[in-house]
Amino acid sequence: MTAVTNLPPAGIGGCTDAPVRFERGQREVFCGLTGIIWLHRKIQDAFFLVVGSRTCAHLIQSAAGVMIFAEPRFATAILEERDLAGMADANDELDRVVGRLLERRPDIKLLFLVGSCPSEVIKLDLGRAAQRLSREFSPRVRVLNYSGSGIETTFTQGEDACLAAMVPELPATEERSLLVVGALADIVEDQFRRIFDQLGIGPVHFLPPRSSRDLPAVGPETRYLLAQPFLADTGKALDDRGCQRLAAPFPLGVEGTMGWLEAAASAWGVTADRFAEATRAPRERAEMALARYRDGLAGKRIFFFPDSQLEIPLARFLAREMGMQLVEVGTPYMHRQHLAHELAMLPSGTALSEGQDVEKQLDRAIEARPDMIVCGLGLANPLEAEGLTTKWSIELLFSPIQGFEQAADLAELFTRPFNRRARLMV
Ligand code: SF4
Repeated sequence: MTAVTNLPPAGIGGCTDAPVRFERGQREVFCGLTGIIWLHRKIQDAFFLVVGSRTCAHLIQSAAGVMIFAEPRFATAILEERDLAGMADANDELDRVVGRLLERRPDIKLLFLVGSCPSEVIKLDLGRAAQRLSREFSPRVRVLNYSGSGIETTFTQGEDACLAAMVPELPATEERSLLVVGALADIVEDQFRRIFDQLGIGPVHFLPPRSSRDLPAVGPETRYLLAQPFLADTGKALDDRGCQRLAAPFPLGVEGTMGWLEAAASAWGVTADRFAEATRAPRERAEMALARYRDGLAGKRIFFFPDSQLEIPLARFLAREMGMQLVEVGTPYMHRQHLAHELAMLPSGTALSEGQDVEKQLDRAIEARPDMIVCGLGLANPLEAEGLTTKWSIELLFSPIQGFEQAADLAELFTRPFNRRARLMV
């Protein structure tokens, strides 16, 4: 029996050292406040209080939809003209708003003060405000802060900033454990937990946790697996706590999920036989389910605008497992270490771009006329009007797409726009 080894899989060329087109121009992306939409569902006793403008409130409200069954766990403390002009003490106002909120909502155990462009422009120090309010309301409520501002960030960085803000709060431990980092749907977490159990890997914790009372403990014996490719700051904060990242591809598609699990199996010395046994059934199910979508996607040309930072793992999955051709893979930011396995698995010669100059990129996309463009909401309609088929990248954050059982759902998400266009053409 041999132990599982976690080497980057043989690529079909690989793009580890491939040239990357860097662009610094106008960008078309949502801001980090967007992350509140999935984070507030995940941490069930947390509340996100955006300190921002009416624009921020509209963004969150329209992105989250109207919740009619439950009291919302996010809101905006709107900075009025008097605050922006420095005529009122915004800190006093904030303390009043938070006091009222916590009095009315005893279910809140973790409160995030979320900074925005306006709070940054008037240099409202939310870090100090969070400390002050934490002192006042602890131990009942812990108050943390992070920025979701759209100045120089992209929308998934909101989750990164939120999780990075939690890392200093995690208790210390010397115990060996596995930490899965990045918000996953509960159903996906449960599936992964079952596989880790079968592999004898544990204890396994997740960040963010479902309850703020279950913050995972970390220390030098913690090995962590990133479940999302946009967690640069969180990874660094965990490294600073002495934790060690397990290098792996991201768990998208069968191959990505196998590589991701292998990284943990290798660190825990799981034998190759045990690994094959534990993964055989879900892997085979996923392979069969994926086969249904391959004919519809194989050979189709796809172009990624930089938006979610999921682009490179998605491109790897679509090229290698679904046979799609990559015209251009744009990403807002490329963390070469975190993406090392992914880059090694991309077809050689893949055109990669980092950052954005939206006009130039639109010209390239329209000229290339790919079969599908993955982009943000703001670009989709103009591109559809050009007769191009688009996929909203934000949907990939709202849908469970990681792991074996979700591999076919991921492929289906890319099939749907073709079906929709085919129906429109009838
Ligand atoms: S944080 Fe900035 S970019 Fe985001 S909604 Fe508010 S003003 Fe707009």
